[in-house]
Amino acid sequence: MMDAMPDCWAATARWVFPVAQAPISDGIVVVRNGLIESVGTRVPSVTVHDFGNSVLLPALVNAHTHLEFSDLLAPIPRRDDTFASWIEAVVNCRRARLTPGDGLSNANSFGRIATGCAELLAGGCGYVGDIRVQADEEGPLPIAGTAFHEILGLRSTQADATWQRFLGILHHATAVTSWRSGISPHTPYTVRQDLFDRAIQYAIARDMPVAMHLAESRDEMQLLACHDGPLRTLFEAWDVWDGTAFATGSRPLDYLRQLAHVSHALVIHGNYLDSQEIEFLANHRASMSVIHCPRTHAFFKHDQNPLCQLVKSGVRVAIGTDSRASNPDISIFDELRYLYQANTGLPPAQILQMATTHATAALGLDGSGTLSPGQPANLTAIAIPSNSDRDPYETLFSSEAFVQQVFWRGQSLWKH
Ligand SMILES: [Zn+2]
Repeated sequence: MMDAMPDCWAATARWVFPVAQAPISDGIVVVRNGLIESVGTRVPSVTVHDFGNSVLLPALVNAHTHLEFSDLLAPIPRRDDTFASWIEAVVNCRRARLTPGDGLSNANSFGRIATGCAELLAGGCGYVGDIRVQADEEGPLPIAGTAFHEILGLRSTQADATWQRFLGILHHATAVTSWRSGISPHTPYTVRQDLFDRAIQYAIARDMPVAMHLAESRDEMQLLACHDGPLRTLFEAWDVWDGTAFATGSRPLDYLRQLAHVSHALVIHGNYLDSQEIEFLANHRASMSVIHCPRTHAFFKHDQNPLCQLVKSGVRVAIGTDSRASNPDISIFDELRYLYQANTGLPPAQILQMATTHATAALGLDGSGTLSPGQPANLTAIAIPSNSDRDPYETLFSSEAFVQQVFWRGQSLWKH
């Protein structure tokens, strides 16, 4: 555990990136009672912690992951290039873990979540949006977050039981954790329409955020449009397919229209959104965000990447790592660095917003994501190469940079 910080302290570094304004050379951030008192270059009359050759940022936010897979050493391989074959492999992995009597109890599941939290912190993350699948025995976690409780079910005969199981998990989680609860209807092709409707109504009534994987793969688009393709074959093999789950001719826009009614909707991936759907998201920017997962996108070799079009159209885009089932790690700093080095043409200041202001807004953490007076003192320190006169963003995202420390509300959560 870190040493407790005094009520009032200050931090200085080679660069301070407030995000709300341009980087400040040799900047100083003053913290009082967990809030930022000032940001600038004036030396305060309190103890100043000098981070040296570092960048001080708002604490990074990972807007999408599945911590249940945090123990995987490598992404889950698939039989062939179809997305359906990866879904098959992931579900087999999950089923093996959830089978009673196999030694993988809820306690093991909680252990994987705790392992993931440690990795998040080491990646400079101070807050996470995580998808949860079961009622884990919860204990204290070293990081704050929103747990999006997952709903899965195509069969009409099991819809009520699925809903009751979801409510049970949600009530349990709300009782035993300090994390905020959200809802995750998994995808349009794994949740029947009437269950999705119930989830949306429930979220509206309780002002809960909703995260949904949407327009992720061509297999999904094919199943929605014509009830056909590799996912249909897979679901029939598993005996879970139900032709009444959603109508043929369905498209992501149908789901976006319903998601637009909740206070915060996170559209995960959105790789195959069309221009009408992108325009819809831009018009609902106040409440809707797309969560792009750069390295997971690369893992699947998707033939479409709307990231630049989304940004150009005015859609709010945040980033997430997704899980170790499709990514070598869940470091949000590595995800940012990957995106910076991917030559998208996006300005680095906009890339940084995707794991700060855009991510906090997507998750509904109003009043955080920048280093500004009055905001919570949520900070990440990144060590950068010494004696460098390079552009500050270039040094921040250089391969030599590494996460040094993470603070949440003025207290140290993690230190290198
Ligand atoms: Zn995901």
